Amino acid sequence: MKNTATDLALFGGDSLFATPKSTSNLVRPDIENFLAYSKQFYRQRQYTNNGPLVQQLEKRLATLHQTDYCVTFCSGFWALALAISAMARKGKSEIVMPSLTYRRMADIAAWNRLSPHFCDIDPASLAMSAATAETCINDKTALMLCVHPIVNCCDAEELCTLARHHDIPVLFDAVESVYETVPEGKVGQFGDAEIFSLHASKLINGFEGGYVTTNNRQLAEHLSLARGFGFKQADNITVPGGMNAKLNEVHAAMALSSLDDLEDQVIRNRERYRLYQTMLQPISGLQLLAFDENQHTSYKNIVVRLCTSWPLTRADTLRILHAEKIVARPYYSPALHQKDMAYPHIAADLPETDQMAEQFLLLPCGHHVNDHDIRQITALLAMMLQQAPAIRRKLESL
Ligand SMILES: *Cc1c(COP(=O)(O)O)cnc(C)c1O
Repeated sequence: MKNTATDLALFGGDSLFATPKSTSNLVRPDIENFLAYSKQFYRQRQYTNNGPLVQQLEKRLATLHQTDYCVTFCSGFWALALAISAMARKGKSEIVMPSLTYRRMADIAAWNRLSPHFCDIDPASLAMSAATAETCINDKTALMLCVHPIVNCCDAEELCTLARHHDIPVLFDAVESVYETVPEGKVGQFGDAEIFSLHASKLINGFEGGYVTTNNRQLAEHLSLARGFGFKQADNITVPGGMNAKLNEVHAAMALSSLDDLEDQVIRNRERYRLYQTMLQPISGLQLLAFDENQHTSYKNIVVRLCTSWPLTRADTLRILHAEKIVARPYYSPALHQKDMAYPHIAADLPETDQMAEQFLLLPCGHHVNDHDIRQITALLAMMLQQAPAIRRKLESL
């Protein structure tokens, strides 16, 4: 228990945790279940190339998202890159996307030789909206890439309406919204396609992996060829630009066992979220982003806003937490347009993005974080609020 500024690890005290507490989900499904799945492919000696577990996983994910097709990939990155390549309007050069988003999004556009045209966000949702996207649409637009924020969802329906109105394909990055619903239905069914990740840090753990959901049969067939060198039969190359982006069987085994555990996981996530809610409530200056409980939600991410009454800068807050081995992270900050970028891109003024990029941080979440950890993290934050003048003096003398 830390009571004063001098107890803080940044100023020479012992760190609160021996091992880092991160914002990665790291869900660990039952080992016996994982091994039971793994024995299936091991016995059959089919380790990859659209094996039985990959097929089973794709069926289950299509059912989960209520779509006709699901195509798995070795990562969310390649699911995105190949979906964009398949869907972008030929001869067009720009991809509309938010700037307050996943760090690698501009790289993914660059792989497709498309320039990101960054749109602003709605401060209420921290997501792009039809209004912010529309100002970026022009006759060079190849695709709209709509990314769901970390807590709750963007308005999928209005974004689809906008895309239809301009006759532009729309792809959703729904990595953070696997479990979510919006009023019009289950995430996964919107736009021309949606992409997801199976990375260990995300809701469904396949070690690594990704997938696309769609109701478009042609697109699904194209993607399942493109991920496997474009081969239909041996050496009969049917898709130009095909490459190796297949999911293998052991990753599918892990993802299937994570899926079996998904409903239980959400209950565990909700318990952590409720405890954070209770413990953060009395700490003035910190505001927990609330999940919309009128919809299905995974309760996975713990995002807090540093209000003007919080007495420390976000950078100093993060420095103090990191020294305690609390690996809190600034929310999508710096935003993509604020970073040096080797690629061509278009960014007009993005005032809401600039403001919101400074105000939020993610606190440790996921399945390596227990109740006791949450009590310690929030007690530390309460102490930082109380001892802020002394902390600021010590920060100045560092
Ligand atoms: C992690 C992530 C990706 C990429 O997924 P990988 O499987 O790690 O390649 C894409 N989009 C968002 C929003 C992500 O958080």
